[in-house]
Amino acid sequence: MWDFSTDAAFQEKLDWAARFVRDECEPLDVLFPGNADPYDRDGEVFTEVIRPLQRRVREEGLWAAHLSPSLGGMGMGQVKLALLNEILGRSGWAPTVFGTQAPDSGNAEILAHYGTDEQRERYLEPLLDGRIVSTFAMTEPTGGADPGGFTCRAERDGDAWVINGEKWFASNYPLAAFVIAMVITNPDVPVHRGASMILIPARTPGMEMIRATGLAGEPLGEGVHSYLRFTGCRVPAENLLGEPGSGFRIAQTRLGGGRLHHAMRSIGQCRRALEMMTERIAARRTRGGPLADQQAVRHQLADTWIQIEQFRLQVLHAAWQVERADRTGDPDDARRARLHVSGVKVATPRILVDVAYRALHLHGALGVSNELPLARMWQSGPTLGVADGPTEAHQDVVARLLLADAVPAEDPLFGSEHLPARLEAARTKYAGRLKEMAVTS
Ligand SMILES: Cc1cc2nc3c(=O)[nH]c(=O)nc-3n(C[C@H](O)[C@H](O)[C@H](O)COP(=O)(O)OP(=O)(O)OC[C@H]3O[C@@H](n4cnc5c(N)ncnc54)[C@H](O)[C@@H]3O)c2cc1C
Repeated sequence: MWDFSTDAAFQEKLDWAARFVRDECEPLDVLFPGNADPYDRDGEVFTEVIRPLQRRVREEGLWAAHLSPSLGGMGMGQVKLALLNEILGRSGWAPTVFGTQAPDSGNAEILAHYGTDEQRERYLEPLLDGRIVSTFAMTEPTGGADPGGFTCRAERDGDAWVINGEKWFASNYPLAAFVIAMVITNPDVPVHRGASMILIPARTPGMEMIRATGLAGEPLGEGVHSYLRFTGCRVPAENLLGEPGSGFRIAQTRLGGGRLHHAMRSIGQCRRALEMMTERIAARRTRGGPLADQQAVRHQLADTWIQIEQFRLQVLHAAWQVERADRTGDPDDARRARLHVSGVKVATPRILVDVAYRALHLHGALGVSNELPLARMWQSGPTLGVADGPTEAHQDVVARLLLADAVPAEDPLFGSEHLPARLEAARTKYAGRLKEMAVTS
């Protein structure tokens, strides 16, 4: 059965979340607008303002909603999570207040599955409780989309691993209690079988930040996306998470969820831009009437709404595919989920760029100024086109999965839909009938 409605009990939760995000989280975005602010767990803002808000989210049963109940989440499934994340996407602070902030959410899942008891106690519990933050370091200066360029090595030396190499754009490193890094443990096999995940506690000797990198608009030398260097950095043998060589399998599990969550939150951003666009064109006057009287402007509003609705359905459908794959464990369902997640990953930056651009354009100078959030929203489009794998890599995944089921046309010249051939076949199929009816066709 097809049904687009939300059950009443969950709708109440969503309504509560929508009010809470609007009243409590959106004001934080203007009070503390720095990209790093939600990650700073030592500051007074966190203890005085954020902790009490997090308590209210817990009381409502919406804390860390992406996690399974065994990890303190709700286990609500991807579709409900999508509906919640649409709301959280409206505010930069909301994911922190609701305990679903990347990359901590994915790192928690890795630790839960592969950490030792001691690692779980030391890192997973405070991470789940929102008391610490963490870093995930996979990208290298010489290899981002193509892991074939990864060179950061970990070599076994007695009861330790010794790490040498560099990592690039490792988000939140300056504030993180630990890093989970992808390292090459066996350089003699292809990287997909020779890479592993390893846990490095903050301040481990031999791990240093070469420099902090920010996003465009942030002052040079500041920012949380760090360039890291490892020089003879030793960690105990048990810090290797999972089997040696399983790094990519672990990374894919975590990145798949992250890609979908970014898409879910982008819907919230786009809806906000649509609301701003609507109120602007209804209020701003030109040539004796509101901007909304201009047909070209009305069409922009219509196109924006249509685009958001299409994207939202695509995201919800992808979420449903992932939920089904999680439930059935069927490899075909997993493949379909992968197809849909990559499709959504490609669509996410496009819609953010389109929608935010139209909204800021219709606001004129105010739109491009630093007095509205639209330029920053627009900038998040290109950022999401690169982070978690660039668009082209995901287009490749989509094309590869579609082609995997492709059957080449029997007639390589004219294909299976060539009308002369189809007419001939139709005549043959209905020859008897046509004769009876004395129809010439
Ligand atoms: C805000 C932000 C946060 C990030 N946080 C983290 C983090 O916490 N940890 C981490 O490990 N990484 C992080 N990254 C890095 C991110 O994962 C990489 O930037 C991404 O994988 C792309 O790698 P790259 O930057 O080296 O680009 P490249 O791999 O050099 O690609 C550059 C461009 O080349 C083209 N291209 C690449 N491959 C192909 C292909 N197969 N076919 C056609 N064209 C192609 C595309 O146009 C692509 O955009 C973050 C990035 C951003 C922007």
